[in-house]
Amino acid sequence: IATRALDSVTVDPVRRTARIGAGASWGRVIEAAAPHGLAPLNGSSPSVGAVSYTLGGGLGILARKFGYAADHVRSLDVVTADGTARRVTPEREPELFWGLRGGGHRLGMVTGLEIALVAVERLYGGSIVFDGAWAGEVVRGYLEWTRTVPDTLTSSLAALVHPDLPQLPEELRGRYVISVRVAFTGDAAEGERLVAPLRAIGAGSVRGSHGAADSPVLS
Ligand SMILES: Cc1cc2nc3c(=O)[nH]c(=O)nc-3n(C[C@H](O)[C@H](O)[C@H](O)COP(=O)(O)OP(=O)(O)OC[C@H]3O[C@@H](n4cnc5c(N)ncnc54)[C@H](O)[C@@H]3O)c2cc1C
Repeated sequence: IATRALDSVTVDPVRRTARIGAGASWGRVIEAAAPHGLAPLNGSSPSVGAVSYTLGGGLGILARKFGYAADHVRSLDVVTADGTARRVTPEREPELFWGLRGGGHRLGMVTGLEIALVAVERLYGGSIVFDGAWAGEVVRGYLEWTRTVPDTLTSSLAALVHPDLPQLPEELRGRYVISVRVAFTGDAAEGERLVAPLRAIGAGSVRGSHGAADSPVLS
């Protein structure tokens, strides 16, 4: 079943909700919510489907403050295997409502859902990419750093090998890197201050025997 054509997104700024068709990506929901000073609980990529993401639980870039996307669902439109179209809410179908929000991929065909939006107008965020040869220092430093920051700052760490493709910045092509992603809902100056210890990981270290670059930060 292709859901691509079910791509409507409607925001209700008074109720702070969005109704999303099964074919809409997070990027479209973000664009529709932002003019009202609102945001959905999307994940790391704007091209991922908002409904399928939420059916799997959805742990996104504001997760420490707001939790799982599935916990902000108000109602779901579902066609179950018996061919019945249902509006699923906590009052009308409590068990199906519970099961769909996390285990939803196998309980029916979800054609759309209504979610609550959060009042987030600005983000300070991005990613700092470290040379993979410094993985030990970076993971240790990152873990210590996470204990010091408030829950208005959510972060994640990924170890990945970038493909050798011309679309990528030269310093990342074909390299093993450690990427630390940060999203902070406070102001930019405070974000800078909170992130400074991350940027400083490895500062002052000498070039190691493992062939690391002189500085662990690549971009
Ligand atoms: C680049 C990228 C970044 C990501 N970042 C995050 C992140 O930050 N946090 C996070 O929690 N997850 C993240 N994910 C995982 C993402 O939540 C899941 O891959 C999610 O299932 C994506 O849906 P899709 O539309 O891309 O995939 P699809 O392959 O279309 O769907 C995934 C599953 O859901 C089923 N399904 C799809 N639509 C429906 C529907 N309408 N009704 C019933 N079942 C349906 C499909 O049959 C399939 O089993 C990321 C994924 C990618 C590719």
